[in-house]
Amino acid sequence: MRVDIISIFPKMFSAVLDESIIKRAQLKGKVKIFTHDLRDYTLDKHRKVDDRPFGGGAGMVIQVEPIFRALQAIKRKIKGKSKVILLSPQGKRLDQAYAKKLSGCRNLIFICGHYEGVDERVRQHLVDEEISIGDYVLTGGELAAMVVVDSLVRLLPGVLGDKNSLNFESFEGNLLEYPQYSRPAKFKNWPVPEVLVSGDHDKISSWRKQEAIKRTKERRPDLPPHQLYP
Ligand code: SAM
Repeated sequence: MRVDIISIFPKMFSAVLDESIIKRAQLKGKVKIFTHDLRDYTLDKHRKVDDRPFGGGAGMVIQVEPIFRALQAIKRKIKGKSKVILLSPQGKRLDQAYAKKLSGCRNLIFICGHYEGVDERVRQHLVDEEISIGDYVLTGGELAAMVVVDSLVRLLPGVLGDKNSLNFESFEGNLLEYPQYSRPAKFKNWPVPEVLVSGDHDKISSWRKQEAIKRTKERRPDLPPHQLYP
């Protein structure tokens, strides 16, 4: 998979992309991620990429022209089709199913808005999909892009060491994951559930299923009816 991210703050991404599982995914060749400074694509001699909104009103709007030029330049470097995604609080809300769908794409280009957002013509003519990471407003699309990229890169085959990590985690089969414990078996007066140290794998598996169902009913009754884990 190839991911390109267009932003006016490309340096923000190194904290996330150059660490942990996402970094290893790049080193293993599972994903190539490129960040692009939108200011490199403006014709303005002061590298300005925003202007006041027509009709007046607060704030500044990212202009259509630098985004158009950035997309043209990036698409020239990509073999095959690409999906262009605008990060926006008005987009379709990200969930695990959406992340899975995106993880099947070969090439994704993300556009991060800032200030009051982007010129509407970007949405109308240049973008295939708009993604929101939740019903709240961020200062820019950078954090949102990182959330989306993180959620889909970990789903790429071979990125996580143990593929069971994906089969038994929250939102698989519309269930939240069961509670997890690790050593020590007793800390202060807080022992782990006895079944987990019993060595009886059938009992452990059935306990986990029941806990996952209980937790989902308590915390997320809005999730569609669940199927048990595979
Ligand atoms: N004026 C816009 C509105 O009311 O819909 C909000 C603009 S917001 C301050 C600036 C940029 O942050 C947006 O263009 C978008 O790229 C990003 N952004 C903000 N909240 C987001 C969210 N919940 N999901 C995805 N991107 C978001």
